[in-house]
Amino acid sequence: MISSGIVTVSYIAATILFILALGGLSNQETARRGNWYGIVGMAIALFATIFGVVTQHYVILFVALLVGGSVGIVLARRVQMTQMPELVAILHSLVGLAAVTVGFANFMDSSVHFAGVERTIHDIETYLGILIGAVTFSGSIIAFGKLSGRIGGKPMLLPARHFMNLGLLLAAIWFGREFVIQSAAGGGMMPLVIMTVIALLFGIHMVMAIGGADMPVVVSMLNSYSGWAASATGFMLSNDLLIVTGALVGSSGAILSYIMCRAMNRKFINVIAGGFGTGGGSSSAGEAEQEGEIVAIDAQETAALLENAKEVMIIPGYGMAVAQAQHTVYEITKVLRSKGVNVRFGIHPVAGRMPGHMNVLLAEARVPYDIVYEMDEINDDFPNVDVSVVIGANDIVNPSAQEVPDSPIAGMPVLECWKGETTIVLKRSMATGYAGVQNPLFYKENTRMLFGDAKETLDQVLKAL
Ligand code: NDP
Repeated sequence: MISSGIVTVSYIAATILFILALGGLSNQETARRGNWYGIVGMAIALFATIFGVVTQHYVILFVALLVGGSVGIVLARRVQMTQMPELVAILHSLVGLAAVTVGFANFMDSSVHFAGVERTIHDIETYLGILIGAVTFSGSIIAFGKLSGRIGGKPMLLPARHFMNLGLLLAAIWFGREFVIQSAAGGGMMPLVIMTVIALLFGIHMVMAIGGADMPVVVSMLNSYSGWAASATGFMLSNDLLIVTGALVGSSGAILSYIMCRAMNRKFINVIAGGFGTGGGSSSAGEAEQEGEIVAIDAQETAALLENAKEVMIIPGYGMAVAQAQHTVYEITKVLRSKGVNVRFGIHPVAGRMPGHMNVLLAEARVPYDIVYEMDEINDDFPNVDVSVVIGANDIVNPSAQEVPDSPIAGMPVLECWKGETTIVLKRSMATGYAGVQNPLFYKENTRMLFGDAKETLDQVLKAL
């Protein structure tokens, strides 16, 4: 057993480490350190809670820790990079479920006594914790289903869905009032259960209405919800660390959602209201006639173009992740650099299927950070680029975002590679990208298409080099 003073100091240390972790994770050069801050902070928090706050039932606690920890290790080892968003979604559902069960357990615990205003405040904390937790739980399960392809990506748009949502919200507020009144008289279970069912339905309905292309934003929004649910639970249990940690997760998730929306030029409120996103494949916009001709190229010609260039820009996208081509990309980069070619990488903020997707892959292949640039840093440089190599990217290099006002991606900032001398696009077919929009870049005079799986074609290019 450790004293309450040591618990407080440990909680403060853990809080500081969590803040440092978030700071570290915001930059790829410091991300590894940030991760360690988070791990050490969580270890301190767990240790202080287990030996300073918990006083009994140690056997159950350790069995639960062992089971949960083992499941976590197996899952984390098995998951592919492309499955990360769905893993994150299912983990959020567990945070929501924890908030709901802890809320009910606390409400039913006869040893918890509050009176007067304190009781009302405690009841509101309990109610909010369960409400946000239930929305997070059911919403995250649906998000997991959609991201893993178990549920279709198309938005489910019920008639008068906004009114339905408003009705559910008003019902939740009304039952909240009932709960506080009845709880003061020794009851309250009924309105609490009814609200939980309403919140579960709301979570399902909210995420079902959101289309495939917007799902990553929804995942980061649910991340934010899970934080606020934990924070409300922290108030209910009078646990300062849970309040602070929940608030950190809640606010960082909200900021991330905002950043992603801005990078896709989407209004946050439109994403949440739902109805956008086709979930990949082709759409009516994808069938529009394109002017110009498609010029294919082979690996030998690609190698020759690259060797003779002075400035090369590599633009990776989701297809590079699918093909796992990042290691070959770096091998090619090394060969070109040894021949005096200046090779840089241009990263779009929503390239891939989650924020930082490309940076993680390039870091895994050990590409030096100083040749990896954000879109804003290099977009003006394309007129000086001899060869741009677009590897499994599509929407993020689509000129119609600038040129076609009624395009579904109109207004989304894109990498302007067509302003360079030559662009080589690596992909398997003429299929559209995630937004389901045709790409006029493929038909431009200075574009060459290198068809095939990115890993296989790049292996051939490397050999030719
Ligand atoms: P896209 O989905 O637009 O394009 C990927 C391309 O990769 C496809 O056209 C596909 O063409 C090609 N491809 C797939 N597999 C392979 C392979 N094995 N070898 C070669 N090519 C392959 O991806 P982008 O990265 O360009 O754009 C990201 C999209 O995701 C944007 O629409 C963005 O808005 C959306 N998004 C991203 C988020 C994020 O946080 N990163 C968040 C929300 C949405 P083909 O089938 O012909 O091979």
